Amino acid sequence: MRAPVLIFIWSKGKSAQWQGDDKVLKGGQLFYWCSWRIFAAVMTIIPLSEGAFTIDKSKVFVAFDKQADDLQQRATGSLLVEVQPFVVITSEDVILLDTGLGFQQDGDLQLHANLKRAGVDPGSVTKVLMSHLHKDHAGGISRRDPATGRRTLSLPNASYYIQRSEFEFAMQKGFPSYIPEELECIGLSPRVRWLEGDGVIDGYIKYEVTGAHCPFHQVFWIVDGGETAFFGADVAPQLQQMKSRFVAKYDVDGRLAMELRGKWWQQGHDLKWTFLFYHDINTPVFNP
Ligand SMILES: [Zn+2]
Repeated sequence: MRAPVLIFIWSKGKSAQWQGDDKVLKGGQLFYWCSWRIFAAVMTIIPLSEGAFTIDKSKVFVAFDKQADDLQQRATGSLLVEVQPFVVITSEDVILLDTGLGFQQDGDLQLHANLKRAGVDPGSVTKVLMSHLHKDHAGGISRRDPATGRRTLSLPNASYYIQRSEFEFAMQKGFPSYIPEELECIGLSPRVRWLEGDGVIDGYIKYEVTGAHCPFHQVFWIVDGGETAFFGADVAPQLQQMKSRFVAKYDVDGRLAMELRGKWWQQGHDLKWTFLFYHDINTPVFNP
């Protein structure tokens, strides 16, 4: 019976990442979980919804109550979107995909409150992958210490993966799409891993600069245990947009975005990707 003992010891090290997730660590499920992680590692994908919002040309995100508010009251041309980062737990890492609006909830960052509610300690996040730095994706990237007024990266133990050109573009372009004040501390942090163009992180996370939505927008594929999770961020933000061909006015190159969506939709079906839709109201995670 050496194997189960070894599995148990191995799992003890890993369990630090799972603080609070008693579903996994309690009782008889432990052995199942250990075997499962080794023999058929399966990714866990959790959407962290910050709510639904309407947005128009002013680029202000206005909270929208799906039950009470009347869709017809929205200004013409405004969009209804969810805002939802994702946490993806792989056999190697606890990965956060984008960081939400950065709103506060009872003195806590909403992103942190949502992580805790999902059973994930913010301190256990090992990697933050940023698609781009628009304010609805990068708001929670940093946090201001009320005592000192200083901003620091909000996930205390994570490495942040950011396209260098996107950061430079954001700082130069600024308001209303970007909020430089929230992003400034990125430039000073030793925990940022600056990406330049396309590549692969730790042998299993592929990133590709797409442009299309903004000039240095990037997308990610996480491949673990025979599964592929695809995060197309704002080039592939909603399920419905994958199914119809259209050019969006808010994209810097709407035609390219449309072509990429068509290509990914096809590939995703052929290769059985799991799609993660950051702005989808009803279907954050989709398996074709
Ligand atoms: Zn967005």
